Amino acid sequence: MQRSRKQKQQLRFARCGKGKQSDGLAEKPSGSSTSDRKLSLGNQGGFNDSATDCATQQWLIIHVARLNELISDLVCPNCAASDLFINIDPVNHGFCSSLLLECSTCKGESGYRRSVYTSTRLQSQTRGDVAFDVNVRMVLLAHELGMGYAALREVSKVLGIPSLHLKTYQRHDKRVTVAEIERGLESLHKAREQIRQAYSDVDPELAELLREDADAVINIGVSFDGTWKKRGFTSHYGIGVCIDILTGLVIDFEVLSSYCHACVLKQSAKIEGKITVEEFNSWRETHTDCAKNFTGSSKAMEQQAAKRIWARSVSRHQLLSDGDSSAFKEVLSL
Ligand SMILES: [Zn+2]
Ligand SMILES: [Zn+2]
Repeated sequence: MQRSRKQKQQLRFARCGKGKQSDGLAEKPSGSSTSDRKLSLGNQGGFNDSATDCATQQWLIIHVARLNELISDLVCPNCAASDLFINIDPVNHGFCSSLLLECSTCKGESGYRRSVYTSTRLQSQTRGDVAFDVNVRMVLLAHELGMGYAALREVSKVLGIPSLHLKTYQRHDKRVTVAEIERGLESLHKAREQIRQAYSDVDPELAELLREDADAVINIGVSFDGTWKKRGFTSHYGIGVCIDILTGLVIDFEVLSSYCHACVLKQSAKIEGKITVEEFNSWRETHTDCAKNFTGSSKAMEQQAAKRIWARSVSRHQLLSDGDSSAFKEVLSL
């Protein structure tokens, strides 16, 4: 990778670390944990922690018998008998059901009957694609737990409630993934702004530099580490994370995957003769969203992630990073 002389010097400066950086930059603010600092910096920048998003409870899990207890003293608006009862409509929409309120005394065509879905719908600009909120949230839950469709089936089985159809899950899965990526990038952008501000706050010279050139490249101290979806260096998925030492905020990350399910399915179809080599090749050309972005051992993912992050550190973030990790040699070779 080619670098200008200035950039090389800055990298060397960053590697030297301790002696060169100002004392203020080398020390963390005392008396506060990393989490405290994250929240405090986040609040300044308008971060929304996912926990605070759920501060107002709007959902509950309830047995229909409890609802019937609740309405047992109410009278029917049609015949004034205290015979109202709630049933769940057998036709469901994934995790959303329809609750039917009826009266045992006047039931029939002219009897009292009201129904309501157990979930609101999300706003959608596409007609015909108005998803139920609960279904999208359940897919999000699967993501948050690092699980997939099978996990939601288990939830349904245990609670005795219907689950999502696989096709519906896959549709929402795409939607949630895109939203999560957008939100992640937005958070990263805010974190980088906060990091620049934090370094500027403790270093008057740097503050002056940034006043003159808001986009100036600055040196920061970081730690880098990698982790995998499962232990034992057999995982197909790994992630490298670069964390700023001063603020404790993540400045960048790289997710690596040595597996693509779509590719595996198509390869099998080709081997089994279900599709021709030409069909496979033509599919491969159109397969632009391949999930596999790494070839090599699981162990090598950490170094590769570091290499990719450092390679783009100046051009993408205008922040130059340095770390002391097992991936350091890879970074040095850039
Ligand atoms: Zn009635
Ligand atoms: Zn693929």
